[in-house]
Amino acid sequence: MASESNMVHSPMVTYASMLSLLTLCPPFVILLWYTMVHADGSVLQTTNYLREHGLQGFINIWPKPTATAWKIIACYAAFEAALQLWLPGKRVEGPISPAGNRPIYKANGIAAYAVTLITYLGLWWFGIFNPTIVYDHLGEIFSALIFGSFIFCIFLYIKGLVAPSSTDSGSSGNIIIDFYWGMELYPRIGKNFDVKVFTNCRFGMMSWAVLAVTYCIKQYETYGRVSDSMLVNTILMLVYVTKFFWWEAGYWNTMDIAHDRAGFYICWGCLVWVPSVYTSPGMYLVNHPVNLGVQLALYILVAGILCIYINYDCDRQRQEFRRTNGKALVWGKAPSKIHASYTTTSGETKSSLLLTSGWWGLSRHFHYAPEISAAFFWTLPALFNHFLPYFYVVFLTILLFDRAKRDDDRCRSKYGKYWKLYCEKVPYRIIPGIY
Ligand code: NDP
Repeated sequence: MASESNMVHSPMVTYASMLSLLTLCPPFVILLWYTMVHADGSVLQTTNYLREHGLQGFINIWPKPTATAWKIIACYAAFEAALQLWLPGKRVEGPISPAGNRPIYKANGIAAYAVTLITYLGLWWFGIFNPTIVYDHLGEIFSALIFGSFIFCIFLYIKGLVAPSSTDSGSSGNIIIDFYWGMELYPRIGKNFDVKVFTNCRFGMMSWAVLAVTYCIKQYETYGRVSDSMLVNTILMLVYVTKFFWWEAGYWNTMDIAHDRAGFYICWGCLVWVPSVYTSPGMYLVNHPVNLGVQLALYILVAGILCIYINYDCDRQRQEFRRTNGKALVWGKAPSKIHASYTTTSGETKSSLLLTSGWWGLSRHFHYAPEISAAFFWTLPALFNHFLPYFYVVFLTILLFDRAKRDDDRCRSKYGKYWKLYCEKVPYRIIPGIY
């Protein structure tokens, strides 16, 4: 029988990635914003500027977090927190945690998503708040998020130390690792306010949709029309985020929520990296109203929607398979599966099922292929004048290839010989026949 080890990364990996996250990612976010908004999306233009003006030039372009930026963030965060707490939703049980707990959630994500977008568009339509203000203060907002999220992560560390919400918490004995990878798996404020649902879903993923709409409105207000490239990009991003909230309860079963603790790595990523980097192809298009023509626009739109659908269907298939205890049909047939067992950290023996047919029979992480392709298709409207809009696709590819390996390692240590059997039956990691 295999055991589920508490995967804590080695100090070397932690120090290296923490150092780079702390030193490289914040300036990168600011440079990305600067290049998209003030340097025509041209890396060359930004590089020339930096070459000419040196460090002082870089300090000059780093916007200071202003009162307006803090107000926008505070209103948005408070609004999302209120929706998370008070909108009605079905009671949903999360997966059993390594310590044997089962977290309970309120599934009101799609309602929060609809209320957010309707409110945002309503504020604009009735002249109460113009989303272009968000775009015009974007640099200051990202700057405030960089510092604010760091302070929030210190709060999470202290909370994990003095008032953990469940037994799925604890120290690795190294303060830097604890801060970086997190102290708690399911931190809560009070009984019901789940911190990771807030940071990952209601702040991070929601900001993606809100900013996509913001970019569209900014282009409309600047040029008096929305280009077909911007429309395709915004529709695809909104379809993706809608899919996310439609399936939010399923997301609570994934690695981000069920395995990664609430630390600097994941929370800072969701609070800063998602609003800035994930939305960046739209940020680029604001000042580049590329004209695709109806036919090309439609081809890209259909291809993107198809990829998002396949990605969704992979997640849905696994979820249905687990929910029905392996009884749901997969592609119209009884699923082929492996009955696996493992031991939790508290020593209890549990059983689990691994699906080996359908999408999950093509490769062990096939769903990452349509995820990456969808990102490519919502960037494609930017065409190929500049590389920077494609940064997200490149980043995502590296992230998901690394994640597939990380997940394989975790599952191997959890399921032992059963995972080995799965690898024999389904030998490819992501791309069938190739990798
Ligand atoms: P998955 O949903 O792939 O979950 C992985 C877990 O599923 C494994 O740890 C294991 O958990 C279980 N599992 C693995 N193989 C099988 C199988 N054959 N049958 C049944 N269960 C299995 O993880 P992700 O969080 O990586 O992906 C979720 C979604 O989020 C995907 O759509 C992905 O594309 C997307 N995503 C997007 C990112 C972005 O930045 N845009 C980043 C990461 C993910 P257990 O312990 O329960 O057995």
